[in-house]
Amino acid sequence: MARYTDSVCRHCRRENLKLFLKGDRCYSDKCAFDRRGYPPGQHGERRGRKLSDYGIQLREKQKVKRMYGLSEKQFHLFFERADSQKGITGTNLLVLLERRLDNVVYRLGFTNSRSQARQFVRHRHFLVNGKRVNIPSFLVKIGDMIEVREKSKKIQALQDSLDAVVRRGIPQWLDLEKDGMKGSIKGFPLREDLTMPMQEQLIVELYSK
Ligand code: SF4
Repeated sequence: MARYTDSVCRHCRRENLKLFLKGDRCYSDKCAFDRRGYPPGQHGERRGRKLSDYGIQLREKQKVKRMYGLSEKQFHLFFERADSQKGITGTNLLVLLERRLDNVVYRLGFTNSRSQARQFVRHRHFLVNGKRVNIPSFLVKIGDMIEVREKSKKIQALQDSLDAVVRRGIPQWLDLEKDGMKGSIKGFPLREDLTMPMQEQLIVELYSK
C-alpha cells in the first residue's frame, strides 16, 4: 500500500476543516489550519473555484477517508460492507468506521490521534476481552472490553493522553475506567453522536455512480 509521507496538515487545509490528525498540536497555536486556512499548493491562496457535483462528492469522501486515516481500498471495502447491511448505507458506513479498534482506542482517550492509536494497536498494547488484538480494523461489538496490557500501562504517552482526554470528552456510547486503563462499548453510536461535519449521503452518491 502506498504510504502518504507529506504533512497530514495539508489534508485539513485541502478539506477546509480541522480533521484533528496530529494530537496535541491540533489544539495549539501551531495548528497549520489555524495559521494558513487556505488550500495547500502554489495557488492555494487564490483558489476559489466552484466545484461540480462530482467534485463536492469526491471532497466529502476524501475528507471522511482522511479523518479515519484509511486508504482508498480500505475505505471502499467499508463502504461495500455498509451497503450490504440493512438500514441507511451512509449511517452504516459511519458506524462501521467508528467501530474500528483504532478509532475506539482514540475515542477512549488512550491516544491523542487515530494514527497513534493504529501504531499502538499494531504494537500489541491492547487487549479486547482479555485477548491480544493487533488489527486496527478489528470491529468491536457491544459489551466488548478494551484494556491496556498490564506491562504497557507504564507507557508515558498512554498516561498523558488519558490525562488530556477531558479536552475531547468520551462519547456517550463508550465507558472509560480511567484508573484501570480500560473501557467498554455500551452501544453503537447513533448518527447524532458523530458531531464532526460529515455528509455521508454524498459518499453514497459518489460510489453509486
Ligand atoms: Fe489539522 Fe491538526 Fe494539522 Fe491543525 S495541527 S492542520 S487540525 S492535523
